Amino acid sequence: ALPILLHTFIYRKQTPTSLPGFVLLGPSGAGKTAFVTLAERSAVAQTHTSTSPLAIDAILPDTIVPTSAHYRSPGDPAYERARRLLLQDTPGHGKLRHFAAAQLANPINVRGIIFVVDAAAVADEAGLNEAAEYLHDVLLALQKRYTGAKTSKGPKEIPVLIAANKLDLFTALPPHLVKISLERAISEVRKSKAKGLKDSGVAMGGEDDGLDEEREWLGEGGDGPFEFRQMEEVGTTVTVKGGNVIGGDAADVQSWWEWIAEHL
Ligand code: GDP
Repeated sequence: ALPILLHTFIYRKQTPTSLPGFVLLGPSGAGKTAFVTLAERSAVAQTHTSTSPLAIDAILPDTIVPTSAHYRSPGDPAYERARRLLLQDTPGHGKLRHFAAAQLANPINVRGIIFVVDAAAVADEAGLNEAAEYLHDVLLALQKRYTGAKTSKGPKEIPVLIAANKLDLFTALPPHLVKISLERAISEVRKSKAKGLKDSGVAMGGEDDGLDEEREWLGEGGDGPFEFRQMEEVGTTVTVKGGNVIGGDAADVQSWWEWIAEHL
């Protein structure tokens, strides 16, 4: 009976909030909820109210082994525990984005951010700009968190997966084009935000404008284009992987799970 008791104790201690978390972000309609619903098939528990984001206590698919459990075997409780994670959905509508902002400012046990984009929607300018503005703000929040950290070691790294969804649609951009398009659009967002800051700074005649502009500038300084690679300097590796949650012959989100397993 002791092993069972022990197991129950360990299991109880693993409340959902202590599980390694992955936060889903991205424009409305990208497929975040669809992905959570798909993951829910293997979910342990779920909490959902209309005013708070949806959190799923999920388990990695059987085919995927988390990096942290490579030396353990199936059936070992530690192996099973290492497969569990919390998947946190956030509403993509502008008004509700403060949920996402709060999580970025104070990420408790957040192992990674999954930014879902509709790969067909980013093929046109309006869709691309919406995604780029949102992603710019997310990356800037991560950069500020890193550069503003008090410890000499720097805060823990938070990687970002750009999940290029809806690849089943023939109008969808392939992942490498999603990446290039977003980098280009973020370069533009960065430029226009800097200009906005400058204009308002001139109007207000403040003295630390230069400092502000620097702090609000994403990635490397200078006039060169923005590239996701630049985020590595501030503890964030950005990876783009394609998939489709719905449609096609079957859902294909294997590469997203692999990325999650790598960071679990
Ligand atoms: P959210 O606002 O990011 O949570 O987006 P939803 O999960 O509500 O998805 C928005 C719409 O896109 C829904 O109608 C989904 O059925 C659809 N959708 C989600 N994933 C895919 C996909 O991989 N392919 C296609 N064709 N449609 C998808």
